Amino acid sequence: MHYLPMFLDLRGRRVLLVGGGEVAARKLELLLRAGAAVRVVAPRIDARVAALARTAGAELVERRFESVDLDGTWLAVAATDEPGTNAAVAAAGAARRVFVNVVDDLERSSALMPAIVDRSPVIVAVGTGGASPTLARRVRTLVEAALPERLGALADLSARWRSRVRAALPDTAARRRFWEQVLDGEIGRRVAAGEAGDEALGAALGRLRDADPATPPRGGGGEVWLIGAGPGDPELLTLRALQLLGRADVVLYDRLVPAAIVERARRDAERVFVGKESGQHRTTQDRINALLLEYARRGLKVARLKGGDPFVFGRGGEEIAMLAAAGLPVTVVPGITAALGAAAATGLSLTQRGVAQALCLVTVMGAAAEALDWRALAAPHQTVVFYMGVAELPRIAARLIAQGAPPDRAALIVERATLPDQRTICGTLSDIASRAAAAGVAAPALLIVGAAAHPPARAAIFAAVGTAATDQLED
Ligand code: SAH
Repeated sequence: MHYLPMFLDLRGRRVLLVGGGEVAARKLELLLRAGAAVRVVAPRIDARVAALARTAGAELVERRFESVDLDGTWLAVAATDEPGTNAAVAAAGAARRVFVNVVDDLERSSALMPAIVDRSPVIVAVGTGGASPTLARRVRTLVEAALPERLGALADLSARWRSRVRAALPDTAARRRFWEQVLDGEIGRRVAAGEAGDEALGAALGRLRDADPATPPRGGGGEVWLIGAGPGDPELLTLRALQLLGRADVVLYDRLVPAAIVERARRDAERVFVGKESGQHRTTQDRINALLLEYARRGLKVARLKGGDPFVFGRGGEEIAMLAAAGLPVTVVPGITAALGAAAATGLSLTQRGVAQALCLVTVMGAAAEALDWRALAAPHQTVVFYMGVAELPRIAARLIAQGAPPDRAALIVERATLPDQRTICGTLSDIASRAAAAGVAAPALLIVGAAAHPPARAAIFAAVGTAATDQLED
């Protein structure tokens, strides 16, 4: 970390601003908003700077910068278009141990001004260490869009009640749970809709205080969120998945969930890897079930992160049944299943009109393969997506052909769909297995069979969506 982000209390503190033009005006406005006692020094001071200074009572000094201007200041900003003057301010600041921000001059600055989102008292500051102000602004726009408009009101409400809540709930964990309920529940919604929220918060606190401490709330507050993490690209997480990850006490994640997604969990959340096919560290489903129960019964918020969607070959149903039998609340958050991620990333319109009227998601793992209706899977006018089929490729292709599928039917393998190292291998039922073997395809990969996977069909879609799709047609 090259720079330490920090919030400065500038109220009533002397700040020197050198410069009297347009850039100086912008900085002056910001410094005045923070309540600083600003002294503006410049030989020529624009009307806008002068007007701002007059209304806020800033001091104007109409001459060139001199080192003594730094006397008694906490911070200085050099915003002139003269490199010599800016350098002089930086040097004088360094000699006096005063932090100096030189606008658009990383080398000379000992302090950088971040891009900010202001929902006071909530302020988000974004910096790129000077690498790219454009990128910082882009991030700011994203944050701006993600934050509720009335976030500031919610923070003000919390500030008004903080000491009272602390007195009523001395236990830190209980207090955190209370505040989470306030922010995520009815009270948060009311504040978002424009109410003050004080009355509702007072009532909720009263109810908690009056509750019999000998009878803890049902489940002790513990619950499990079964969250679909999508096919791999962290940007394909849902907003709800992201929100819950930020609240979970413990995160149990599968082998298919990349580190970049697990990273999005709260910083102090416990992270537990429960990948099933990870060599000698095999975690059985029984063990996973036991862990889920154990954490939730301790009153923790447990995020169970699964690749793709929890209900598509994710054994989500079994975990829910077990938790429900134990009386623990469960929430399911859908995720983008691998087939949808792969389709978007390869320009494959799964139910293209006139080409495929049905979409079938299949797995051939274990004994399940025998129970499948292979004649139906071999039928035309559909797209069939095989999950977990890498080792079975030759048998899948042979069975489909034996049941009447033409050997030249299009077949596409998408390995590690939506991840930076995604690969696609294109062929037909007759050669896809040998092509995959030659390319060394490994799990996770999907086999997609049907005319919609045919390269010309995908090329047409690629041409239409342009750069929105992430992969070029490789084949
Ligand atoms: N619940 C998951 C599927 C779990 S089964 C979902 O909805 O996507 C595991 C199989 O999913 C893998 O063997 C592979 O066939 C497929 N899979 C998961 N992620 C994938 C990815 N990024 N690219 C290709 N296939 C993937």
